[in-house]
Amino acid sequence: MARVHNFNPGPAALPLPVLEEVQAELLDYAGEGLSVMEMSHRSAMYKPIYEEAEATLRRVLAIPDDYDVLFLSGGATLEFAAVAMNLMRTGRAGYVVSGNFSKKAYEEGAKYGEALCIATSEDTDYDRIPEVGDLSGSGLDYVHICQNNTIFGTMWQRLPKTGDVPLVADVSSCFLSMPLDVERYGVIYAGAQKNAGPAGVAVIIVRHDLIAQGPALPICPTYLDWRLQALQGSMLNTPNTWGIYVCGKVFKWVEEMGGLEAMEARNRKKASLLYDAIDRSGLFHGTALPRDRSISNVTFTTDIPELDREFVSEAARAGLVGLGGHRLVGGMRASIYNAVPKASVERLVGLMEEFEELHAGTSATE
Ligand SMILES: *Cc1c(COP(=O)(O)O)cnc(C)c1O
Repeated sequence: MARVHNFNPGPAALPLPVLEEVQAELLDYAGEGLSVMEMSHRSAMYKPIYEEAEATLRRVLAIPDDYDVLFLSGGATLEFAAVAMNLMRTGRAGYVVSGNFSKKAYEEGAKYGEALCIATSEDTDYDRIPEVGDLSGSGLDYVHICQNNTIFGTMWQRLPKTGDVPLVADVSSCFLSMPLDVERYGVIYAGAQKNAGPAGVAVIIVRHDLIAQGPALPICPTYLDWRLQALQGSMLNTPNTWGIYVCGKVFKWVEEMGGLEAMEARNRKKASLLYDAIDRSGLFHGTALPRDRSISNVTFTTDIPELDREFVSEAARAGLVGLGGHRLVGGMRASIYNAVPKASVERLVGLMEEFEELHAGTSATE
C-alpha cells in the first residue's frame, strides 16, 4: 500500500488509524452483520454511534451544556444562509470579509437582511486579517468572521471584541486544530471535510438562548431551523449517517492523541518548519502577512507562474499531492491539517530545498 503525502485543502487527509478502523468495520459493524451505511438512522444500532460522536466532541472542545451541537448536511456553505435566517432578528448583522468564504457568507447574509461589511482586506488581496474595532454595543444581531482563511492562508490570532453581540465563526479549516473558548462565541460552524471527517457533514455549535424562540425569519426552511434540528437530534430527516460515524472516530482519535492542546502543539511545529523554510528561501516567499499566518494552510509562491506549476507537478511526481494554490490565487498551498504527519512536512521542506538548488538564480524577487 502506497499512501501519498496528502496536502489537499479539503476533502483532506484523514488519520490512518481511523481509516483502518472504518475498513475493518465496513462489512460487519460490531457483529451486527451489516455496514453503518446500511443501518436505519433511527435504529438502536445507530443511536449510540450518533450519541458517542456528539459526546466525544463535547469533551474534546469542552462545549458547555447551554450549547446545542448539530450535524447537518449541505456543508458550511448552506450554513451561510442558516446563520442569517436563524439569527437576523432586527435585520442587521456585521461581516468581516477576510477572504473568499467570508465574502460568500456576507453575500449570502445580504439576501436575508442588511449585511454590513465591517472591515475587509480585499484591497490587499486578502493577505491579512483586517483591523476591527470594539463592536460591543453596536446593536448588530451578530458579527460573522471566518476564523481561518483556507484559500489565503491567514487566521485570526485574537478574536474581535464583540461584547454582548454574538460572535459567529466559520471555523471550517481550523476546527479541532487548536482549543477554542466556546463561550466566546454565539455560533461555531464547520464543514467537516477539512479536519474532522468526510465531506457532507457540517458541525454547528450554537448557544441555545439564541435559537430558543426559533428562527428569526419565518421563511427559514424547516431543515435549517436550528431549534427544531436541536430538538430532534439532527434527525428531522435522514442525516449523513456514514459521515457522522467517521467524524465520531476522528473526534476519538483527537482525544486519544492528547486533545486539542496536543493538536495545536503538533500543528504549530509543522507550520513553523514550513514557514522557517519559506523565510530562509531566496526563491519561495509567503503570501500572507507573517503576523496573521495560518497554522492550517500555508500559502507561498515563487512569483513565476510556470515555476510554481513545475514545483507542484514535480512534488506530485515525488508523492506529495494537493500543493497547487487555489484557482483564485495560484502559487502553492500546503494544507497541514491534524492528520498530516510532521514527516510529510519535512519531506516538503526537503523538496523545496532541492528545487531551489536546481533553480538557483531564477528568483523573480532578486
Ligand atoms: C471549505 C470551506 C467552506 C466551504 O465548505 P463546504 O462544506 O464545501 O460548503 C467554507 N468556509 C471555509 C472556511 C472553508 O474552508
